[in-house]
Amino acid sequence: MDEQRQLMIEDLGSVLEGELLVDPLSTALYASDASLYHVPPLAVARPRTRDDVVAIVSYAAEVDLGVFARGAGSGVAGGCLGPGIVVDFSRYLHRILSVDDSTVTVEPGVVLDELNRFLRPLGRYFPPDPSNGPVTTIGGMLAVDAAGSRSVRVGSTRDHVQRLELVIGDGSVIEAGSEALVSRGSGGPADLTDPHQRLCDNLERILRENDELIRERQPALPRNCSGYHLRGVLAGDRLELARMLVGSEGTLGLFTRATLHTSPLPEHRGIALLLFGTLEEATRCVQAISTLQPSACDLMDRRVLSLGRESDPRFSSMIPAGSEAALIVEQVGISERETRERIARVISAARATAQSTRVAFEAYEFDDVEFLWSLPRRIVPMLTRLKGASRPLPFVEDIAVPPEQLHEFLTAAQRVFQAHEVTASLYAHAAAGQLHFRPFLPAPDIDSGARLEELAASLYEEVFRFGGTISGEHGDGLSRTPFLKKQYGPLCRVFQFVKDLFDPQGNLNPGKIVPTAGESSPLEFRAAHRSGPTADSTQPALTPTPGPSGPSGPSGPSGPSDLDLVSLGCSWTAEEFSEAASDCNGCAACRTISPQQRMCPFFRIDHSEHASPRAKANAIRSVFGPLGSDALVSDELRQLASLCFNCKQCQLECPGHVDVPQMMVEAKAAQATVDGMTRGDRTAAGVHDLVALGGLMPRVTNWLLDQPPARWLIEKLLGIHRDRRLPALARRSFLRSLPRRWSFRPRPGARPKPVVYFVDHFANYHDPELATALVRILEHNDVPVYVPRDQYPSGMALITAGDLDNARRLAEWNLRELGELAREGHRIVCSEPSAVVCLQQEYPRLVDHPDAAAVAEQVVEAGTFLAELHQQGRLSLDFEELDLSAGYHTPCHLKALGTASSLRELLGLIPGLRVSTIEAGCSGMAGAWGIARDNFETSIEIGSPLISRMQQGDLEIGTTECSGCRLQMQQDSSTPTLHPLKLMALAYGLIPEIADRLPDPKGSPRRRSNRELVIS
Ligand SMILES: Cc1cc2nc3c(=O)[nH]c(=O)nc-3n(C[C@H](O)[C@H](O)[C@H](O)COP(=O)(O)OP(=O)(O)OC[C@H]3O[C@@H](n4cnc5c(N)ncnc54)[C@H](O)[C@@H]3O)c2cc1C
Ligand code: SF4
Ligand code: SF4
Repeated sequence: MDEQRQLMIEDLGSVLEGELLVDPLSTALYASDASLYHVPPLAVARPRTRDDVVAIVSYAAEVDLGVFARGAGSGVAGGCLGPGIVVDFSRYLHRILSVDDSTVTVEPGVVLDELNRFLRPLGRYFPPDPSNGPVTTIGGMLAVDAAGSRSVRVGSTRDHVQRLELVIGDGSVIEAGSEALVSRGSGGPADLTDPHQRLCDNLERILRENDELIRERQPALPRNCSGYHLRGVLAGDRLELARMLVGSEGTLGLFTRATLHTSPLPEHRGIALLLFGTLEEATRCVQAISTLQPSACDLMDRRVLSLGRESDPRFSSMIPAGSEAALIVEQVGISERETRERIARVISAARATAQSTRVAFEAYEFDDVEFLWSLPRRIVPMLTRLKGASRPLPFVEDIAVPPEQLHEFLTAAQRVFQAHEVTASLYAHAAAGQLHFRPFLPAPDIDSGARLEELAASLYEEVFRFGGTISGEHGDGLSRTPFLKKQYGPLCRVFQFVKDLFDPQGNLNPGKIVPTAGESSPLEFRAAHRSGPTADSTQPALTPTPGPSGPSGPSGPSGPSDLDLVSLGCSWTAEEFSEAASDCNGCAACRTISPQQRMCPFFRIDHSEHASPRAKANAIRSVFGPLGSDALVSDELRQLASLCFNCKQCQLECPGHVDVPQMMVEAKAAQATVDGMTRGDRTAAGVHDLVALGGLMPRVTNWLLDQPPARWLIEKLLGIHRDRRLPALARRSFLRSLPRRWSFRPRPGARPKPVVYFVDHFANYHDPELATALVRILEHNDVPVYVPRDQYPSGMALITAGDLDNARRLAEWNLRELGELAREGHRIVCSEPSAVVCLQQEYPRLVDHPDAAAVAEQVVEAGTFLAELHQQGRLSLDFEELDLSAGYHTPCHLKALGTASSLRELLGLIPGLRVSTIEAGCSGMAGAWGIARDNFETSIEIGSPLISRMQQGDLEIGTTECSGCRLQMQQDSSTPTLHPLKLMALAYGLIPEIADRLPDPKGSPRRRSNRELVIS
């Protein structure tokens, strides 16, 4: 550690209640946000109290360091980046402090959607609506005056602020609201020894002296957050100090508390999606519609619409391919009738203006309205999914022009793009004149910076010509501060005066809004991916693993013993590994804890940047950049990788589908090669072998598992937590007791073609009844089944733990068993969703085997297979009644397959069975991960919503496809949880004994044991 950081730890770290992080990985994680830039800070502070913030700012003033406030880090202009101390408000300062009829007081780290979830039962909400409400913090919104589609009606953040508390440059704390002007005699005698009074007095003087200049140079636009907001701050006998501070981007003070006005929830909303033959027609309609005072009127171009079609089949059916432009128009009213009338007027106005107008969707119900809004909310981040040499880059993404000039400005902007030979996507809050352009350009590097600057300069010339602004709602940050002089001319001097009042030393977010004095070095961009060895030849190289025929022989390579060489465990090149990390654009969507999403279970329980999928991608990006490949096996990255158990929900829900789980598997594999696995991973990975061993004496094993002293010993020796309820071992495994008729290999060309059952670990060793249920259900529906006797478990637990050598051995074995069958066209059916994920997604990148693709192609989850039969009218519906209420949990790995929960749907065919879906997120088990002593507490914490749901007592049974989830659902509940296939088999009358597993009709409690009684 360098001397400066060491001193900082001693002088600052020791006085903070929160944390001060100076390690290379932590600083790398805070070197980027959702912008194009990369600026590593010296340190990261995570304050717990206002006093912490005071201490940080005072320290920075003392040693002359920059202080950079940060919320979710979702800003697209690099506003929170800087080389000094980054202050992360999102980690601890996120409490809602008080609420009354019309206001709420919060700490700055509160997330917008969390606040609105809190306010909703009170019939209130905080109206500003940036599209990334699930992640953006109130502090970040205040700092950039965030706004969204409805700004024409509800305004921006500034319009809803009553009072702010902030720490200014010298470390003092001030309160800011609507202040009485002493000079106007309305606030009592001036006390210029009071810093707050002095500040107000000086600010008033500056504003008065420059009143004319402010009016002239700061246009009254509906959207403008560029520079300081000075216009209208002197209002009669009041100084609107809080309004002025909103939009100051952390350059005048760090907000530590805010009192916000809330509004009643809107009563009736209506929405319409209008499609047009040309962009020009759509923009002409905006003028006509604006006179009808819509609450929102957003414009989307052809590129954005085609992404929308991809995002959801419902959108692809309502938006024809080749649609050129669309408007989403929303109206509110005091009754549905009024709302309908207002939408009808919008449609008439559009039709009168543009003949090609087509109404693609119209809705008045809350869920339907929200569904349509999900179109732009999904698309903006999805833009980053576009692959290829050029990608839509955010650097001129925040232009706003007078709305009445929209059409003419778009024509001028088009000319600029043509002159620079680029195309750009366009999404606009059109009624407010707010335009989000993203030009398609190669990922920027040091050489292409000038090109971006030239394009921005040309486009901004047009913006100025039209009386617009270069930033409407995202802030100036790093990307726009250099252009402020052009926009505001002499007004920049006034900005400097204001800055000097609050932050005379210039330590608060230096380089933003007010440029720093002297030469500034060129900005560094987020590294474009780099292949092969790192630039520094003294760093160890990252190499792909040799294939199965490589030097390590047929059983798969164990990686070179030479520790100078970190071998890649998956079959991808270093370039692909690096590219996967670079696919992350930092949008922060993976920091959501919204109940509507499954996004990262680790981030949900620990709102730390380190737990987010973004951090994991950034860590790998840094391994290929400043940290060097040594860092892949560092303790810090090992710790970070331990916050991932390969549930794949981030990859599924990330707008760019960034493959964070595979990166973490690769990191764990490298760490395992160099230092061995973590204790928790060792336990999870070793479960297969332990169970196989225990299976030699199942009765003894089961008895032992029920004895507390034995469980204590097992925990000590094998790392399996003593309180984890474990599944009993079957007396004979399914494959050992396989009836002969199921184990005859089908003749080539057999008709009908038998399906192949891949059993996997749990059904084989613990629950042969499940395996039997599937086979009998298939036979009952005239589908012949073949169960290869020599199959092995899929190895998913090994992959998740990073034990890729052993996983590869299992994969190769299973591929030998299944490959030929797959090539012959046999479907491979699995009752365990993880097994499908493993065969379909993991094997092809684990082994370089000719049959991996064929197996991946043929493997199918049992529910999906049965649903296909049902669709073809081939599923027998001769179910007996089951009078039960069941709670269904969707496993993460089923979601990861991107298919519907087919078995949940099929259960709906069983008479009398009432199935409700439990929306409680990830179970926290991740296969065997949750049984390890080191993971148990975290597993329970992640799974607690699901566990609590099972304890509520209103469900007679739980049901889910995943064996790990079933264990968690039964962990602290006497309600039994069964695989849906068992319920089907019972309802078909195929295995009547399953009824024994259902609750006693008299409701007598089942015996509670720390091992689970499944089947023996
Ligand atoms: C996909 C996507 C969609 C977006 N949609 C919108 C949109 O519809 N409307 C919109 O306005 N913006 C939008 N943004 C931009 C951005 O997310 C918002 O401006 C957001 O409000 C920033 O909040 P944050 O918590 O991420 O702040 P950060 O990015 O962490 O910081 C933003 C600025 O706030 C400052 N700051 C943070 N906390 C404090 C504090 N406590 N005190 C003082 N200064 C502080 C930082 O220094 C920085 O200057 C979008 C961004 C993305 C990636
Ligand atoms: S991982 Fe995906 S969701 Fe998370 S920041 Fe990166 S691109 Fe956004
Ligand atoms: S795979 Fe799951 S645990 Fe890992 S980062 Fe993604 S969401 Fe989090």
